[in-house]
Amino acid sequence: LIVAKDVHKKYGETEVLKGLDLTVHRGEVVAIIGPSGSGKTTFIRTMNGLEPISGGDLLYRSEPIGYRLVNGQYRAPDAHELSEQREEIGMVFQQFNLFPHMTVLENVVYAPLKLGKLRKADARKVGLDYLGKVGLAEHADKYPYQLSGGQQQRVAIARALAMRPEMVLFDEPTSALDPELVGEVLATMTQLAQEGLTMVVVTHEMRFASKVADWVVFMEAGHIVEQGPSEQIFNAPKTERLQHFLSQNS
Ligand code: ATP
Repeated sequence: LIVAKDVHKKYGETEVLKGLDLTVHRGEVVAIIGPSGSGKTTFIRTMNGLEPISGGDLLYRSEPIGYRLVNGQYRAPDAHELSEQREEIGMVFQQFNLFPHMTVLENVVYAPLKLGKLRKADARKVGLDYLGKVGLAEHADKYPYQLSGGQQQRVAIARALAMRPEMVLFDEPTSALDPELVGEVLATMTQLAQEGLTMVVVTHEMRFASKVADWVVFMEAGHIVEQGPSEQIFNAPKTERLQHFLSQNS
């Protein structure tokens, strides 16, 4: 679904992505791991056009994602192309980003209603179905502040799913949670993975990455140092950098 070829990204003069290659196949779970500041978040944000890239190619179903720097100038895909891609690629953020003034159910159905993907008459039933998938149907009429962080993140996942995306990007979805709430979010994500959802997950949760991901990408200082099947990355890391990282983080 996604092909990155020699992707570069600069903030001013600072290059934070230094030539990344990655292919994400349909149905695959890809985990991106690596030390803080290595560019993981920046990379995943480029995958749905939230950050323009400054060099290389980044394709979703063979179409360029987001803006591209061509001969020193950004060339935008037309608005229609970009919004279609964004509808197909869901995103879950570290900080949930729920709408605070809307109920849980309204959060879930807002975008599909607005985009005409859902009829008003069906909204409650469909919204409750998605909330049921993340175990929160009984909280549908509460407001986000009435829920725990783990529950809020599960609502954010239900909201992403309600758009019926082709794939979902998760940017450190458990990093803002108290330790005792991490498990329920990982359990929800594990279930989605088992159902065949295509997922790219930036994570510090090595157990999750080793158990659930099919393919693992290890980044450091803007490079992909090593990538491979989860088993290989965790049981037979090739580079010293990855061996060192795993010894510090498992
Ligand atoms: P973490 O695990 O701490 O979130 P990360 O691997 O996700 O780290 P990024 O957040 O992608 O790393 O950041 C990569 C580098 O880019 C960092 O050095 C960061 O300071 C820099 N950076 C990120 N966003 C911006 C920005 N908007 N402007 C300038 N520099 C940025």
